[in-house]
Parts: sequence; C-alpha cells; structure tokens
Amino acid sequence: MDLHREKLRNYCRLCGEARAIPYEKYRNPTAKQSFSTSISKYFSVDVESEDCHIFPPFICQICHKKMHRWKKRFAKKLKCSLNINVASFHPHDSGCRICFSNTSPDDVTSERRNTLLETVTKIAKNGGFVVEKGEKSIRCIKLVNQSQAIGIWLEVEANGCWSCKVYSSMDK
Ligand SMILES: [Zn+2]
Ligand SMILES: [Zn+2]
Repeated sequence: MDLHREKLRNYCRLCGEARAIPYEKYRNPTAKQSFSTSISKYFSVDVESEDCHIFPPFICQICHKKMHRWKKRFAKKLKCSLNINVASFHPHDSGCRICFSNTSPDDVTSERRNTLLETVTKIAKNGGFVVEKGEKSIRCIKLVNQSQAIGIWLEVEANGCWSCKVYSSMDK
C-alpha cells in the first residue's frame, strides 16, 4: 500500500479530520460503506465507487454518530439536518497535505496507549482498587485482607507491560 493511501486511513471521509481512529486495538473505525445509502441521499456522494487512492476508507466516530442519528430520523420521516462540512480530497501531488500532515502512526499509537490506561483505570476502580496515575504507568492498589494487611499492587505501563505484587505489611 502506498504512503498516501496508508495516510488516508487516518482521515474521516466526511469531515476530513484526522481522527478516524479505532477505539480498541482490534477494531477498525467505521467503514464509509456502512452509511453509503445515507451519504448518497444527503450529500449526493457515492462512496461505494470512488477512488481508494483519493478518498479515505473510514468515517470518524463523531460523523458516525451524526449519520446514525440522521438515518434514524430520516427513516421516521422526521426533519433533521446533518451538521457536517464534507471535506474535499485530491489526488497526491508534490504539496500533498495528507502526506505531509503531522498524523504519523506514532500519534495513533500514543492515543491507543492512553486508551489502554484509561480502560484499566476504569476496571480497577470498579474492582475497588485505589488508582495512582504516574506519567507512563498507573498503579492499582487494593487491600484484600484487613487483619493480615495483605494487599495487591498492580502496575500497568502505557505499552501494555504489567507487574503484580502481593504484599503484606507484616513481612519485613
Ligand atoms: Zn468525521
Ligand atoms: Zn499524498
């Protein structure tokens, strides 16, 4: 896959923002084809047949929500406007904004990493852990046995590495 086409995967086909990023590691962002009928009705754009070297394959979560809402209201014959300015895309050339944008795969990775720590924080808090946020890791601490002062200490790093210790304030 050429660089331009690879870069297009970060962009939203509709609003053109570089945020067509999956929430979870193994899930792709919304494919534009999943709203092709609505997009063609509202914007008169045929996303099914357009050139994959010029137009991004995905739409962002924000446009996904807007399209979803519009689709539901349209089906009920309710009036609803779609507040999306459709961006224009051009074939790759020497001053290509897609290829020279700051969106590198690293940005995507760091966003995924933050999501991982956020997810772990949520789960740990639900599980009764006290969560301490460090710069690149979080520490989840929980006392599991009050009388013997036994606790669990779990550290999760942004890159997914983790370590777990069971401690007792009685051993020393
Ligand atoms: Zn969008
Ligand atoms: Zn390009």
